[in-house]
Amino acid sequence: MKPPPFKYIAPRSLDEALAALRECSPDAKVLAGGQSLVPLLNFRLVQPSVLVDLNGVSGLDSITWDPERSELVFGAMVRQADAERSPLVRGACPLFAEALRHVGHRAIRNRGTIGGSLAHADPSAELPLLLALLDGRVRLLSVGRDRWLGARDFFVSYLTTALRPDEILVEARFRVPCATGRTASTGVPRPEAYRWGFMEFSRRAGDFALAAVATVLRIDRAGMIQDAAIAVAGGGPTPVRASRAEQTLVGYPPSTHLFAEAAHLVVAACEVEDDIHASAEYRRELIGVLVERALNQAVAHGSADVCGV
Ligand SMILES: Cc1cc2nc3c(=O)[nH]c(=O)nc-3n(C[C@H](O)[C@H](O)[C@H](O)COP(=O)(O)OP(=O)(O)OC[C@H]3O[C@@H](n4cnc5c(N)ncnc54)[C@H](O)[C@@H]3O)c2cc1C
Repeated sequence: MKPPPFKYIAPRSLDEALAALRECSPDAKVLAGGQSLVPLLNFRLVQPSVLVDLNGVSGLDSITWDPERSELVFGAMVRQADAERSPLVRGACPLFAEALRHVGHRAIRNRGTIGGSLAHADPSAELPLLLALLDGRVRLLSVGRDRWLGARDFFVSYLTTALRPDEILVEARFRVPCATGRTASTGVPRPEAYRWGFMEFSRRAGDFALAAVATVLRIDRAGMIQDAAIAVAGGGPTPVRASRAEQTLVGYPPSTHLFAEAAHLVVAACEVEDDIHASAEYRRELIGVLVERALNQAVAHGSADVCGV
């Protein structure tokens, strides 16, 4: 199928893009990498009368580090492949690069953007999962309004966010736990004593995940878990952050029994339903297994591996 006719606007600056959106919303859509929007247009599942193309807008493609807040900062138009290859990202948060490796195929990541994936809000997608795991937040701009939302408020339901029709997601920030210093040799941030795990299952390489689990653990010198974060993709209409399971882990040494208990609590926090890809029962079983594997992977990662620099 071909898309329905639309007017195409190619602004050169953010101000121009915001003005175009204000004028044309709610019938306008922003075009970023096009990897989700173009198929939707071709199937006529969305029929905007105007497309505002962000690809010529300058200043939205940088990756930087905010030392005050220990945050990785992405402009909305950073390509997923550039983030995956970035020495800054790989050094500060190898988990991030590992998760991005699972986004579709390289050709998709070459075009797909950080902002586009977050705005598209597929609950099986890796970037929304990372935003939930890493206490991330997004900056939403429109003419006369500038606001920040965390993952919990930004993701509303399947493919639905709190973005208003005249807003552009311009920046996304992900907090890297305990990235307290910079290595002298590379200048990139250095997470200390944090370990990560990432597990995902899809039926074919490059497909969206049936489920994915990401975790970050801090284990002290005595072998006790001091901090834990666990998030799930494919566990409901939005990415799931499993706070009760995280609390269960804190104060105890890693063990098979503890991780099984945490997995049970993560599954209980998910709202899965039967769909064409898997039954709810299958997904629950899968998520439980992935949680235990991701936690074990995190334990197996020494802090030297976590630093990756
Ligand atoms: C075969 C295939 C497999 C894929 N597999 C995966 C996968 O495994 N995991 C995964 O996460 N993704 C997957 N994707 C989707 C891919 O990651 C897309 O890149 C992503 O979903 C959308 O990013 P985009 O930059 O292409 O956005 P677009 O397609 O351009 O836009 C997507 C939506 O977000 C809106 N939007 C985009 N940018 C902004 C912004 N800055 N502000 C406001 N609104 C905005 C658009 O209006 C549109 O509604 C796959 C895609 C394909 C085609």
